[in-house]
Amino acid sequence: MIIAGVDVGILTAICALLFIAIVWSIVKLIRRIVKKRDWQYHAIVLVLLLVLFGVAGYFEGKQQYINYWASEITRAVVGRDDVSAKCVRALGDSLDVNQYGPYVGWVKPGDNYSKLDRTTCKRFQEWLATDRKTATNDQAYALHTIMHEAIHVAGEFNESETEYKSIILYEDIMVKFGMDREFARNYVEHFKKNITPRLPEQYHVDWAAKENAKQE
Ligand SMILES: [Zn+2]
Repeated sequence: MIIAGVDVGILTAICALLFIAIVWSIVKLIRRIVKKRDWQYHAIVLVLLLVLFGVAGYFEGKQQYINYWASEITRAVVGRDDVSAKCVRALGDSLDVNQYGPYVGWVKPGDNYSKLDRTTCKRFQEWLATDRKTATNDQAYALHTIMHEAIHVAGEFNESETEYKSIILYEDIMVKFGMDREFARNYVEHFKKNITPRLPEQYHVDWAAKENAKQE
């Protein structure tokens, strides 16, 4: 569920409940100490709640961090602030994952956000943790996937057109996010030559025809 551009899942709710429980537990503990009554039990409960919050918060924070950067790329591609990207969650997104199983990302027509599968998000996260100047082929492909889905968010659902638009934007958008221009340019050439031809027919781009159209 996307609320004001932020992905809210079961884990988000768990974090919010734990936070409320921690505040309540602190109040309870202070009252006990002030009244000089037994407080040890409440201290243990508080520590347990803090540990749980730490674990849940770590995973929720990671999710929000990846979503944030994938959304920034999506916004840069679409040119609008009201769009976002969301990584599927381990908890709560299983229905979607079953429905879209073989895809690395998808957009439901009318939605202003894309969904990205766990492999794409994992590779994207790995790339975010580097200096971002270069990328492995897998990471560069994950970045391309985020941009491809962003073109769908912009309203284009023809796969060949979507590939064309995302590939011609790749270099400039990636440079904006820290990639070396030279590396981005080389990857685009590699993508056109070696990756697109291996994709299903509907993703193929007739580059010669596109060049001719541009020159006319
Ligand atoms: Zn597509």
